[in-house]
Amino acid sequence: MATMRTLFLNPPSFEGFDGGAGARYQARREIKSFWFPTWLAQPAALIPNSKLIDAPADDLALDEVLRRARGFELCIIHTSTPSFENDVKVAQALKAQNPDMRIGFVGAHVAVLPEESLKAAPVLDFVGREEFDFTLKEVAEGRAYDSIAGLSYRRDGDIVHNPDRSLIEDMDALPSVLDVYKRDLVIENYYIGYLKHPYLSLYTGRGCPARCSFCLWPQTVGGHVYRTKSAQAVIAEMAKARQMFPQVKEFFFDDDTFTADLTRAAEIAKGLGKLGITWSCNSRANVPFEYLKIFKDNGLRLLLVGYESGNQQILNNIKKGVRVDIAKEFTKNCRRLGIIIHGTFILGLPGETKETIEESIKYACGLNVDTIQVSLAAAYPGTELYRQAMANKWYDEALLVRNDGTQASAIQYPHLKAPDIEAGVKRFYSKFYARPTPIFRMLVAMAKDPIERRRRLREGKEFFDYLRGRQKPAASRIELPPKTDKKDPVPA
Ligand code: SF4
Repeated sequence: MATMRTLFLNPPSFEGFDGGAGARYQARREIKSFWFPTWLAQPAALIPNSKLIDAPADDLALDEVLRRARGFELCIIHTSTPSFENDVKVAQALKAQNPDMRIGFVGAHVAVLPEESLKAAPVLDFVGREEFDFTLKEVAEGRAYDSIAGLSYRRDGDIVHNPDRSLIEDMDALPSVLDVYKRDLVIENYYIGYLKHPYLSLYTGRGCPARCSFCLWPQTVGGHVYRTKSAQAVIAEMAKARQMFPQVKEFFFDDDTFTADLTRAAEIAKGLGKLGITWSCNSRANVPFEYLKIFKDNGLRLLLVGYESGNQQILNNIKKGVRVDIAKEFTKNCRRLGIIIHGTFILGLPGETKETIEESIKYACGLNVDTIQVSLAAAYPGTELYRQAMANKWYDEALLVRNDGTQASAIQYPHLKAPDIEAGVKRFYSKFYARPTPIFRMLVAMAKDPIERRRRLREGKEFFDYLRGRQKPAASRIELPPKTDKKDPVPA
C-alpha cells in the first residue's frame, strides 16, 4: 500500500496562540512568540510526501487551513490540555470537508488521557501515545491498527489501546528536521523575544533526568533518561543547518536540558566553535564554571535557565534539585563570562505565599539576569503537580487559558487566590524591568542594531499593553466565513 498523503497540523486557534510542544505553557504571550513545531516536523521527516502546516506562526485562519488540507488522506494534529477543545473543532471542520480523512491527535494530553480524549472527541480516529514518531509512520504506511504499538483507536464502537511503544533509544535513527523546516516553514515567522531573529531551534536529544513536579514533557512523552544524538551527528547537522539557512542569526537547542550531559555538550560546543555558529540552549542553574567557559569560548550566546522561585522550600516542594546558593554562583559565573541569561520563574507553585512572591522578585532582581519570563503554575494531566493539585482541590482546569487565549492561574490556595498570583506576575515584570540596568541594556542593544531597534519597539509596546491590561483581544482563527456558492480552486 502506498504511504498515505499525510498532513501534520499545528492548528489555528487564537491569534498569536503558541500551542506547539516547544511551548511549555500553551497560551498567547505577553509579546508575540512562536516556538518551532519540531515535534511534528520529526515524524513529518519520516513520512515521504508529507506536509507540515503551522497555522499560528503563519497566521492562517481555519478556512485557509481547510483549503490547504484538500487532497490529504491523513491529518495529525498536535494538541495540548488548554487547546484540546479548540483543536477538536478544527478536526471536525476537516472531517466535514473530507469524511474519508483519517484524523489523529498527538501530544502529552492524549498520551496521558487516550480513553478520555477519544470519548470526548468522536471525530478522532486514533491518538498516538508516548513518543509517536514511528507510530505515525506505521499509520501512514497503512498498517493494520491492531499491529501498531502506542496507538489507541476505535474498533466496532469500542476504544482499543494497543501495548505501549518503547522509547526510541537510537536517536541517530531519527532523520533531521531541517529538510521539513526548509520545505514547509517560513522561519522568519518564528520569534522569541530573547533570541536573535531569525532564530532556528531543534532537538539533539529527548528526556530530562530531573524530576521537577510541574514539568510536562519528561513526565509524559520524553521520559527521565536523556537520550541523545551523537555529538558527531549533531555537529554534522549544524553544519548543514548553517548552509541551508544562512540568514539564521542564532541556533537554539530546545532539548529539555541540553547541559544534562556536560561531556557531550562540551564536545558539541567545540564542533560548533569550529563552524563559527552562534548558539544557545536550555540549562539548569548548576553548570560548573569550566564547562560554561568551554561553551562561551565556542559560540554560546545565551542560556535559558529555569530558576522557578527564589524560595528554597518551594524549590524543594517541586523537586527542582537545585539550591538557591548554587544558582546564584552559576549566574555570577555566567555574568563573568558574558553569557546572557533568560531566567524563567513560576508563580503559584506549592508553598507560594504573598511573601515568597516578593522573595522571588527580589531574587530575580539580585541575580540581575538579562531578561525574564514569569509564568503562572500550570498543572497539566500527567504531572505530579496535577495529581497534588487535584488531591488538594487547588486546581480548576477550565481556567487554564482565558477565552482570549492568554494564560490564567488555574491553581489557587486557601491563603493565596488566583487574582493575587496573577497580580504577582505583573508586579514581578514591572519591578524587574523598571530597574536602570535592564533599561540600559535594552537601549544599548537598540542603538547597535536598527533591526533590533524596530523589533524591541514593537515588543516594548506589546509588553506595556500587557502590563496595563490593554492587550488587544486576540481574534479567534477558527471561525469560518459564511458559505457562498463560489468554489475555491483545488490546490495542486
Ligand atoms: S530540569 Fe527543566 S526540563 Fe528537566 S524536569 Fe526540570 S523543568 Fe523540566
